Amino acid sequence: MLADERREELVRFERTFNLARLGGAGLAFFLGPFFPNLGLWSLALLGVGLLVEAAAIEAALRRVRSRDGLERLARTVFALDCLVVAFGIFTFAADPRWTTYIVGMLLIIAGGFRFGPRGALAGAAAMSLATVVIAFFRSNAYGYALEPERIFFTVTVNLLAAFLMSGLLRELRGLRGQREAFMKQTAETEALRAVDQMKSDFLAAMSHDFRSPLTVVRGAVELLLGERPGALTAGQRELAENAERNVLRLEEFTEELLEMARLEQGAVALEPEDLDVRTLLSEIVADHQILAKQRRQWFALDAPTDTMKVTADRGRLRQALSNLVGNAIKYAPTGTPINVRAEKQNGLFRIAVSDHGPGIPPEERGHMFEKFFRGRGVGSTPGAGLGLSIARSLVVLHGGSLDYEDTPGGGSTFVVCLPEESS
Ligand code: ADP
Repeated sequence: MLADERREELVRFERTFNLARLGGAGLAFFLGPFFPNLGLWSLALLGVGLLVEAAAIEAALRRVRSRDGLERLARTVFALDCLVVAFGIFTFAADPRWTTYIVGMLLIIAGGFRFGPRGALAGAAAMSLATVVIAFFRSNAYGYALEPERIFFTVTVNLLAAFLMSGLLRELRGLRGQREAFMKQTAETEALRAVDQMKSDFLAAMSHDFRSPLTVVRGAVELLLGERPGALTAGQRELAENAERNVLRLEEFTEELLEMARLEQGAVALEPEDLDVRTLLSEIVADHQILAKQRRQWFALDAPTDTMKVTADRGRLRQALSNLVGNAIKYAPTGTPINVRAEKQNGLFRIAVSDHGPGIPPEERGHMFEKFFRGRGVGSTPGAGLGLSIARSLVVLHGGSLDYEDTPGGGSTFVVCLPEESS
């Protein structure tokens, strides 16, 4: 425990015990007279003694500042408490019906709180000793029987109380440890979140700043390829085409980064409208026809002819589905079909994009939707590892889900499920 915390704890304990001392003085003053055989002087001494002790402790608490000083004070006060309580038991023991040894429990509790299990045991030992001594003394003074069973009983109860108190303290320590671990974890999570936020902000700013110069470069390359500034030699054309391909890739990557950052910042606001799923899928397929043809792939679109209306953000849903279709083209081998299938199932729209490519190995399935994750088998296939992550975030934003399934006969199937009324 930190020195500051222990200091505050000791002060708090002593102030609480001071309230108990005031209660003890009240008992001596107001209850004492109801016990026959109690010496008035003893009662007055006990009551006043407790009040003076409480006042002296309060004064000391205001003066002593260091942890060591407070520890010494707590030990002294505890020893004093033992004497005062022993004296209290002695005083009340003058009554033949005395059961005041119960007060000793308070010392066991106080010792435990102040100094842990050892304090509880010290309290139990002190109170047991006091009980034995008082029994001898009273037996001599008033001629009571020594009653060994009563002493044995009292000592045993004292020890049991110390044992229970130790258990309670252990529990408290455990709870305190848990609370500290939880607070530490919360602070760490908070710090991580702040760093993550910084990273998103940085990505957003960076990708934003990349866009304009890239557009300028692409424009220039397109002009070159259009031979506006003059005819190109075969070598120059090859270089310019290479530059164009790479600029397009860079633009795509920048767009993905920007979209990712926007999604992470919660800055993507959907603009829902009523869409026909079949029409949307036909458009997406048409957009990808050229790419697919280059790889000698073909589409099989299977969607019921009756209207399938969904409320969604056209641009964002198209982007999510295009990422899946684009991946199918990229990762499936040439000369294979790509199936796009839509159906209504249990009140949900189920859109499945299947290919006959390598599929996703089981050990990668838990990671493929993470940002920047790329499979081990991607080889030289270009990509930044953001497509699936963006697609899933966009679908989830619509209140839907995106999951992976095996395609019968090999390959991947990505399934988007959307509620009719996407948010
Ligand atoms: P990228 O395609 O840029 O690598 P994605 O987030 O779109 O990023 O995909 C993550 C990874 O999931 C890919 O690197 C690839 O290993 C795997 N993957 C995605 N789609 C397919 C698919 N249709 N077939 C096989 N593997 C795929």
